[in-house]
Amino acid sequence: MSTTNELDVWRGLPALQQPQWDDPAEVRAVVEELAQLPPLVFAGECDQLRERLADVARGEAFVLQGGDCAETFAGSNADAVRNKLKTLLQMAVVLTYAASVPVVKIGRMAGQFAKPRSKPGEARDGVELPAYRGDMVNGLEFTPEARRNDPRRLLRAYHASAVTLNLCRAFTKGGYADLRQVHRWNQDFVAQSPAGRRYERLAGEIDRALTFMKACGANPDEFHGVEFYSSHEALLLEYERALTRVDSLSGLPYDVSAHFLWIGERTRQLDGAHVDFLSRIRNPIGVKLGPTTSPDDALALIEKLNPAGEPGRLTFVTRMGAGRVRDALPPLIEKVRQSGAPVAWICDPMHGNTFEAPSGHKTRRVDDVLDEVAGFFEVHRALGTHPGGIHIEFTGDDVTECVGGGHPIVEGDLHQRYETACDPRLNRGQSLDLAFMVAELYRK
Ligand code: PEP
Ligand code: MN
Repeated sequence: MSTTNELDVWRGLPALQQPQWDDPAEVRAVVEELAQLPPLVFAGECDQLRERLADVARGEAFVLQGGDCAETFAGSNADAVRNKLKTLLQMAVVLTYAASVPVVKIGRMAGQFAKPRSKPGEARDGVELPAYRGDMVNGLEFTPEARRNDPRRLLRAYHASAVTLNLCRAFTKGGYADLRQVHRWNQDFVAQSPAGRRYERLAGEIDRALTFMKACGANPDEFHGVEFYSSHEALLLEYERALTRVDSLSGLPYDVSAHFLWIGERTRQLDGAHVDFLSRIRNPIGVKLGPTTSPDDALALIEKLNPAGEPGRLTFVTRMGAGRVRDALPPLIEKVRQSGAPVAWICDPMHGNTFEAPSGHKTRRVDDVLDEVAGFFEVHRALGTHPGGIHIEFTGDDVTECVGGGHPIVEGDLHQRYETACDPRLNRGQSLDLAFMVAELYRK
């Protein structure tokens, strides 16, 4: 693997989507401070996740990865984090129980503070300002002050990540994620929604199974907490570089800002800075693949990012769109399968299905999301490969950002609770509906 100098090769390569900062001296000071701060995750945890993802690549486990499109500093509070975790735990329980498969739980949490943008600016009522690039860079509010890039935000992002991850660790290890709490996660939800009631029935079955096992004398540790991993898009390379440390045990570099890092659709150029940097860290990594990806692109990415063919090292997160998944995905999978490279395949059914409602809100149809997941399963089943997981944007709150679903939201409802800082998220009921559908597809 790489020496320290090799971790800086990206600096000589084209790096898309990097913010322009006004004062390079301020950026240098911030980066030096970041480099002194403690790791957020440990190398051993990253290795463990790599092993879990190797199970996924072998067809023996399923990934549930999700969270906000863009986390915010204001949203890094106990209620919001607990609600997201609760929803993720509920989805995971549905999948584990109804599909009888081990679920690898990865939050799009504790670091998802930087966003790539299609346009550098945003116009409203004839006023043009720089686009919002995530709380790590500038503010969402549409004022010149908020939209100014501020490098001090890199430090705030680190601290918000630390606070969030601390809560996640406490919730998942400190009793809250105990399987005997399956009903409690649903308490405030059960009466309100068909998905909540469906969940309650499943939780009742789990209760009976647990009581039975306890009566038999079985009460394994696995029932009392869950393994939870953090992830975000590795977009701002100054930040990721400052948080990359050489592990004292192995002598290898790990990006300790999160367990799992991925390269976005806009920054996956083979000769670009992002691919180079991520090729040199030891964490398990992912790459988003959109409908313009050619089979040769996929092979070239494998060659750069996982030349040793290590299972669990590389995950492809495909985001084709419901209308294209059945045509665009098979050639990629076919070629990768022929190469023999071990890849975990995950479906992001969100980013290929975004459109603008007449009200101007960016939204997604739940039916399109479900259809892309269904297409993903069909394609993998037809080719004999493993549909390895889903990557979604969701929240634990009752927002109205995506239209349709079991408790339907129509376009006219979008304004009611449209709270996302970036892309539209599934709300809790929509997320649970998706989990039930995925469990059914998995069992088939
Ligand atoms: C995202 O995950 O929020 C995102 C921008 O996705 P993509 O890189 O696939 O467009
Ligand atoms: Mn998004």
